[in-house]
Amino acid sequence: MTPPGPSHEPEVEEPCVVPGCGAPSVRHLALAEARKAFDRLPDKGRRAPLCRDHYREWKKTTKLARKLDRITW
Ligand SMILES: [Zn+2]
Repeated sequence: MTPPGPSHEPEVEEPCVVPGCGAPSVRHLALAEARKAFDRLPDKGRRAPLCRDHYREWKKTTKLARKLDRITW
């Protein structure tokens, strides 16, 4: 039997990676992916946790970028 320990949480919630935000993250993206929408991300690790709002913003931005890609090509 394993005793109930204090370190039994499945996953620690990381704060949003966008500077000045710090809200609890809902999604993790690859840092390179997140950079497509947010320029000033800290160069720390390879994953970028994003909060709900910033994830939405990222989706919007990348969707737009994809559209623009299509036009340029
Ligand atoms: Zn955020």
